[in-house]
Amino acid sequence: MKRLFVLQTMLLVAVFAYGQKLYVGNDDRTYCRDMESIARKIVSIPDIDGYLTLKGDFHMHTVFADAEVSASGRVREAWFDGLDIIAMTEHVGVHKNEGIHITDYNLPNKLAIKAGKKYGLLVVPGMEITRTKPFGHINALFIKDCNGFEENRYLLDEKGNLLRDKDGKRIPNRATEMSDFEKAEAQGAFMMWNHPGWPDGKSTLYPLHKKLIEEGRIDAIELFNGMDVYPRVLDWYDTYKVPMMANSDIHTPSSCMYGRTLRPMTLVFAKERTIESVREAMFAGRILALYSNTLAGDADLIKQIIEKSLQIRVIDEKNGKIEVTNISDIQFEALFDNPQKIVTFYPRSAVQYKIPQGTELDFKNCLAGRKSVKIKIW
Ligand SMILES: [Zn+2]
Ligand SMILES: [Zn+2]
Repeated sequence: MKRLFVLQTMLLVAVFAYGQKLYVGNDDRTYCRDMESIARKIVSIPDIDGYLTLKGDFHMHTVFADAEVSASGRVREAWFDGLDIIAMTEHVGVHKNEGIHITDYNLPNKLAIKAGKKYGLLVVPGMEITRTKPFGHINALFIKDCNGFEENRYLLDEKGNLLRDKDGKRIPNRATEMSDFEKAEAQGAFMMWNHPGWPDGKSTLYPLHKKLIEEGRIDAIELFNGMDVYPRVLDWYDTYKVPMMANSDIHTPSSCMYGRTLRPMTLVFAKERTIESVREAMFAGRILALYSNTLAGDADLIKQIIEKSLQIRVIDEKNGKIEVTNISDIQFEALFDNPQKIVTFYPRSAVQYKIPQGTELDFKNCLAGRKSVKIKIW
């Protein structure tokens, strides 16, 4: 009987505590609250020596052009998704949402920067110069003023109607492509070549891009854009060493696109958590592209991320038995030995393997260009 009384009391206390958590307020207005829904996802990727590892997305859109989310909504999503920094990169001259037509192209940046202050999230002002190929789409990051760029991406007649060629196609306004590029450069912008294989499914290095790359005027190229991957960017990395990026170019709400998985992110190795530090790191090329457990870019930066992520405990030195704890959210896959053995280091987990000391592991998902990164983990 006494036991039953204790059980009943415990049950009452539990119900009371649960009720307290669920309903807050009074009889005139209460609300249901699911605490999990306001928790930020923690993306675990270790810092490296001397630098913070900041997780960024440098390509996204809002309702002001052709997307479904507001500028402040993008900031909020990014905070939820575990990012540290975003760039707002609205299209210039794209107005696809009925009833919305901005004339001040700085507005998305202003609103995102204001929201960023609220969340402690860094926001880089940016914009996307949006043209047909071969010029394509170029993001100008750290831009100071987004106004004064060409809004008419296609030629118009005297009445302001779209001019069309004999096939009925719109005629690109080519004359202002490079002048817009130069205008952004003159503001000290970081010039990123977006989605080289979109929309035609061909990643073509046109003479224009080749020239701009050789002149050092393309600061980064997207290897990952949303769920797209452009493997030819790895070849260009091998030839020109232009840093690679992974960005979302998101138009829908991020939860509809990525759910519980990690969104594409560009890792920035910055001295401090400030816009100026991020800018310095990006122009210095201290960035890596990360999406779908694939890390791409400078071999030394990748090696440092692997070394900081994998913690080794030797169990049996003679037989090469080790326990490897991967503290990161990146799943590493490596090959070694002949015939090859595969080892997987699962995120935030420990595994035990026999890997003789001094063995070189070939990290197949870590790409310094077309070649994967090889290191000894002990
Ligand atoms: Zn684009
Ligand atoms: Zn875009």
